[in-house]
Amino acid sequence: MSTRSRINVTCECGQSFEAEVWQSVNATASPELKDEILKGAMNVVTCPTCGRRFHIEIPFLYHDLDGREWIWVYPLSYEKEGFSVYQKVHEMWENLKRSVPPGVRERFEKEYKVTVLFGMDALVHYLQSKERDNQ
Ligand SMILES: [Zn+2]
Repeated sequence: MSTRSRINVTCECGQSFEAEVWQSVNATASPELKDEILKGAMNVVTCPTCGRRFHIEIPFLYHDLDGREWIWVYPLSYEKEGFSVYQKVHEMWENLKRSVPPGVRERFEKEYKVTVLFGMDALVHYLQSKERDNQ
């Protein structure tokens, strides 16, 4: 499932407004969201006052059900605290595995790959290189 939420954003011009952002993307169920990411349009908002378009940096989960991959994308500014991000993602993954029946957990452990990336550009490059590999 892909989930989005409303958050408060403040533009450089000082205007605050509410915007809808994606917090998790299920690329298998919503391939159009993958296209949005590749086009650089994911979580890009437009300020209603000055018209400036900008990208909202929030951590989000990219779930590739077909590819059995769980990719957490953190803002580039988190890279210097990379270790604590890896720890947090690892914890979330462990919690998720604990919340499912043993059979499913076993499959998760065998089949799933968990990846952490920093910045939307890193995700775009990652997805592009995966597509090239599949051709
Ligand atoms: Zn503005």
